[in-house]
Amino acid sequence: MKKASVVVVGGSAGGIPAAIGCRRRYPEKSVLLIRKEKQVLIPCGLPYILGTVGSPEKDLIPDALLKNNGIELIIGEVEGIDREKKVVFIAGGETVSYDKLVLATGSSPVGLPIPGIDKENVFFAIKDVAYLSNMLDKVNKAKDIIIIGGGFIGVEFADECKKNRDNSVTVVEMLPHCLQLALDGEFCIEAEKMLVERGIKVLTNRRVEAILGNKAVSAVKLAEGQELKADVVIIGVGARPNIEMAEKAGLQIGPTRAITVDRFMRTVTDPNVFACGDCAEKHSFFSGKPSRTMLASIAGAEGRIVGANLFNTRYRNFGEIGVFSTIIGEKAFGCAGLTEGMARQEGYDVVTAEAAAPDRHPAVMPGAALTKVKLVFSRDNGLLLGGGVSGGTGTGELTNVVSACIQHMMTAYEVSLFQMGTHPALTASPMVYQLVNAAELAVKAMAK
Ligand SMILES: Cc1cc2nc3c(=O)[nH]c(=O)nc-3n(C[C@H](O)[C@H](O)[C@H](O)COP(=O)(O)OP(=O)(O)OC[C@H]3O[C@@H](n4cnc5c(N)ncnc54)[C@H](O)[C@@H]3O)c2cc1C
Repeated sequence: MKKASVVVVGGSAGGIPAAIGCRRRYPEKSVLLIRKEKQVLIPCGLPYILGTVGSPEKDLIPDALLKNNGIELIIGEVEGIDREKKVVFIAGGETVSYDKLVLATGSSPVGLPIPGIDKENVFFAIKDVAYLSNMLDKVNKAKDIIIIGGGFIGVEFADECKKNRDNSVTVVEMLPHCLQLALDGEFCIEAEKMLVERGIKVLTNRRVEAILGNKAVSAVKLAEGQELKADVVIIGVGARPNIEMAEKAGLQIGPTRAITVDRFMRTVTDPNVFACGDCAEKHSFFSGKPSRTMLASIAGAEGRIVGANLFNTRYRNFGEIGVFSTIIGEKAFGCAGLTEGMARQEGYDVVTAEAAAPDRHPAVMPGAALTKVKLVFSRDNGLLLGGGVSGGTGTGELTNVVSACIQHMMTAYEVSLFQMGTHPALTASPMVYQLVNAAELAVKAMAK
């Protein structure tokens, strides 16, 4: 039987930082990472395989990350865990014993209970090189592509399917707006406008009732009766945690059907088993309520907490803030923390403020894009609760700054005094820097 101090199951956004974190904190410990797939895809890059990146082979996490950090790799599927003997069983018969076990088994796309979902050329966001190669081939040949779900995954697939192709791409979304679960209405409207400008049809308030065709899909039927031609259907409606093995091993599963962990990322059932990433239960940074938000940013932070805590308790998980960004054509959108809608739903009396300015100065600098920041504060104490950003390529990092301010519980007053670095070719002018201007407007509104 093989032995390792730490066995990590899963080789993606959660497992890799956990393994690296352990090697950094405890260099004397041997770390063995086991993952199913020969090549690991950068999961967030999946939509870009269909357009910008061009092939699954160009969207891989390099194994050098493991090798350079002294992490041993086994490619194989872990089929079971004996927690008493502290052993994992790999398909094919190999067994490995551990002192500490980390489960980072991720998530899989959720299916939809609609007839015809199993027809040929109906695809999900499955993290598998061969599957995605086939999907790319079918997208290249398709005249009519239907995307079910207008969340960020669906919207990114739509934009990439359209890229450099003479085809028809339609997004079908059940809610009144695309991206509605992540952004406030005004940003959703901007995003939908971008999709339409790119030649993508957007059908909101519509539900797909059936997928039609013989062996392969030929159309989708909407609940409203309309039929839409389709050679390819891509489903982007969310993911569910991979917890079957953990459940079989007797680990507690929480209300979101993810593995229950404490703030140190230890499973509540077994102090020698940790979990992180999409398979581990999340809690909202704001309410502490169990949350279904699954993001690579969260998986990475949780993985680093696990790595540090394996043999000494060092870090606490304060919950998910939910920070993400996306881009449609040339226009990017980002959100950190609570949207105005979510904050109101949580019962906050909110103050919002917006500021827009070009993200270069003067605005004639190459690459300048109008960038808007909307901040959401609690009126009672001025705490920053969330922010939305739309604009140029700096949007992702600006959204991350909003997230840092939220995580450090900054108030409008503190954000307004934030000393931002500026440069003509890189940022907005210091006179109109959107983040501080929006915070200053909020301070004024709260002082009334
Ligand atoms: C299309 C798409 C776009 C996304 N874009 C973004 C984005 O822009 N930003 C963002 O923050 N998040 C994004 N996400 C979410 C992000 O990809 C996930 O949150 C992230 O991948 C979670 O990482 P993970 O390591 O927990 O799980 P996964 O990435 O699912 O990896 C799980 C790993 O566990 C392995 N595994 C599972 N079971 C076993 C077993 N029994 N034995 C051995 N190995 C096993 C798998 O092979 C894999 O290596 C996106 C997701 C999708 C699908």
